[in-house]
Amino acid sequence: MGSNSCLNFAITHHCVYLSPSFSPKSKLHNPNPNHNQFLLSRSSFIPIATSSFALHSNHTLSHPRSKKLPLRNAPNFYVAASAKAEPLKVMISGAPASGKGTQCELITQKYGLVHIAAGDLLRVEVAAASENGKRAKEYMEKGELVPDEIVVMMVKERLLQPDSQEKGWLLDGYPRSSSQAAALEDFGIHPDIFILLEVPEDNLVERVVGRRLDPLTGKIYHLKYSPPESEEIASRLTQRFDDTEERVKLRLHTHHQNVEAVLSTYKDITVKV
Ligand code: ADP
Repeated sequence: MGSNSCLNFAITHHCVYLSPSFSPKSKLHNPNPNHNQFLLSRSSFIPIATSSFALHSNHTLSHPRSKKLPLRNAPNFYVAASAKAEPLKVMISGAPASGKGTQCELITQKYGLVHIAAGDLLRVEVAAASENGKRAKEYMEKGELVPDEIVVMMVKERLLQPDSQEKGWLLDGYPRSSSQAAALEDFGIHPDIFILLEVPEDNLVERVVGRRLDPLTGKIYHLKYSPPESEEIASRLTQRFDDTEERVKLRLHTHHQNVEAVLSTYKDITVKV
């Protein structure tokens, strides 16, 4: 992503105003600290748009539904937008083995986001044999959702850590129920986009049953579709304890039961792939 497209993004997500009387020395006033929009003096600014503008290097603004707007009186006209865009917040949801892991890697690399996976946070607790981990394991073994009192605070705390706040986040596998979505909304945590990956069920079962992890490199293989490169790697591959046919069917059932409830919270910002 070049610097131009970053700028696009900043402006796309924030109000843009033009003012004939604004000079770089004008004091910027942010009327709503939750939104990075800056008003000049109320009498002197002309709001020209609230979304989807692109700023071009030749001092023109464009909007997908309008012609380019030349800034004819430049340099007397200035674009006042947020100095720093709010970091991107993305949620991704999909059935087990729908490709979330792969997409998460691509998205976090491209946008520099912190990847937060509810399942990974839980597995850390399970591995540490903490109280929460022991309780969580009982549910994870059955392919059921771990109770909210364990998951909600765990995810919230991770989202509020400085790296997530500064870089933005990609939240994977959370929320999985309407109560989890409601808890985030109550904390004032709302994503910019909710991505839902949809894959036919037969493909999912086959992918899960053949899935293996290299504990040394963290790389995921599939015995048929993405086999290990050498005998040495093959010999150390492990399988997640819940990646069996019986358990994945339970997990798929749970996923389908919950996804509709979650979608209703984010329907305006959902993209199905
Ligand atoms: P999958 O996407 O294959 O279900 P995950 O690693 O995301 O794998 O989750 C593994 C298990 O962790 C789930 O089956 C569930 O028991 C638990 N889990 C993960 N995310 C949540 C969540 N948001 N709420 C409750 N339980 C969760």
